[in-house]
Amino acid sequence: MADRPYLFLELTNSLCSTCLRKVEAKVVVQEGRVYLLKHCPEHSHEKVLVSTDADYYQFSRRVLKPGTMPRKFNTTIERGCPYDCGLCPDHEQHSCLAIIEITDHCNLTCPICYAESSPRRPSHRSLEQIAFMLDCVVRNEGRPDIVQISGGEPTIHPEFFAVLDLAKERPIKHLMVNTNGVRIAQEPSFARRLADYKANFEVYLQFDSLDAAPQRALRGADLVRVRKDALARLNEHGISTTLVVTLKKGLNDDQVGAIIDFAVEQPCVRGVTFQPIQAAGRLEGFDPARDRLTLAEVRARILEQSPLFQPADLVPVPCHPDCLAMAYALKLGGRLVPLTRLLDPSALLALQGNTILNEENPEIRRLVVELFSTAHSPDSSAWTLSQLLCCLPELAVPPALTYDKIFRVLIVQFLDPYNFDVRSVKKSCIHIVHPDGRIIPFDTYNLFYRDTAAARMPAEAPALVQVAGITSAARA
Ligand code: SF4
Ligand code: SF4
Repeated sequence: MADRPYLFLELTNSLCSTCLRKVEAKVVVQEGRVYLLKHCPEHSHEKVLVSTDADYYQFSRRVLKPGTMPRKFNTTIERGCPYDCGLCPDHEQHSCLAIIEITDHCNLTCPICYAESSPRRPSHRSLEQIAFMLDCVVRNEGRPDIVQISGGEPTIHPEFFAVLDLAKERPIKHLMVNTNGVRIAQEPSFARRLADYKANFEVYLQFDSLDAAPQRALRGADLVRVRKDALARLNEHGISTTLVVTLKKGLNDDQVGAIIDFAVEQPCVRGVTFQPIQAAGRLEGFDPARDRLTLAEVRARILEQSPLFQPADLVPVPCHPDCLAMAYALKLGGRLVPLTRLLDPSALLALQGNTILNEENPEIRRLVVELFSTAHSPDSSAWTLSQLLCCLPELAVPPALTYDKIFRVLIVQFLDPYNFDVRSVKKSCIHIVHPDGRIIPFDTYNLFYRDTAAARMPAEAPALVQVAGITSAARA
């Protein structure tokens, strides 16, 4: 009798990538890679690569912490995951990051856009709607960790600064604006005014490549000049910035090392986030069979292309280890000192006594001593390492390591109809606020809950019967 050609790890539920109905999926390991084996009664079998590194995949399954619950759930369990999003009481993680889309309008028409925004979509949310959506996050989170103002292109909302004021009036720890950077680049007065908000604030700047060709493929335009000018303004005003790189296999995944090197040279840049394309929304020129990248592949690209990082530096984030991996480093005088490998709980506990001071470089020693011994001012607007590492459990971190010295490399993979795993989506901690007040995982929002995607909800999923705790007036 012959053996199976794979090792069967477990059973989960996924989606048929054709009709999006929920289907059983076997998780199997074959030749060091992890696959989902699915069967749809209508569209037959499907084999999807979910990781090129079975060891890392299995390691990430062991890096877990108990989920942190929101203060409130907003829908009831009626139809089963992923058709009850709201968050429903079966969700396993609060909103580490809540996205509020304030407009569908955009000054670009990117061939790749999960929101399907463009100049042809004119609608902006009103200030009243946005205040309601902000209040929904506060209602669920108390003091939300990160709220990201997004779109469309949020900076072209006619009342953009009033939106920032609304957000600043609420107890949000860290506010982000997700932008393509066009307005920052082209309007010096806009960038100047943005600087008024820079305490506990960050620009999440679209930055797919250093070259024109990948930008044309992903954004429909050569934005090299725009990126350069936007960064010049952000540097000029000292506005914390994260570069956000949308990755497509064979297009720009050979540039991750160069982008990290470039980012380190920018004083305002606090890190780089790499996001393989999620198969959702507008996907012109994207072939899922050819162009999808797994988290493990992005991690491998970083390790291959950036000599700074070793495997121990790029670790799963415990709140959602299937989909998030991170590396932290100290940015010292234009160079990086990887830090994550030191984030062993016992090492960090010893850090108060100074484990990190074993670094051989005397300059690094001096700077680290300085960082760790500076008294943390109670009214300082700077983030501390312990705040940044809210996702890491049980770490005792000295309070004075401030945000401007930290450099963060993050890999964020979203689930799509191909790699969807119901076990994993329940741990999603990046959520979007629906205009009706539901808080919905980014992954499922783009598949089923966005106005442009609602028709994709499979017919067999019963209709939503109630959205608990949300007034009908506010939902209008
Ligand atoms: S993804 Fe989360 S919120 Fe949505 S249905 Fe599943 S458990 Fe509920
Ligand atoms: S990806 Fe961003 S910049 Fe591009 S069309 Fe969509 S919202 Fe606009």
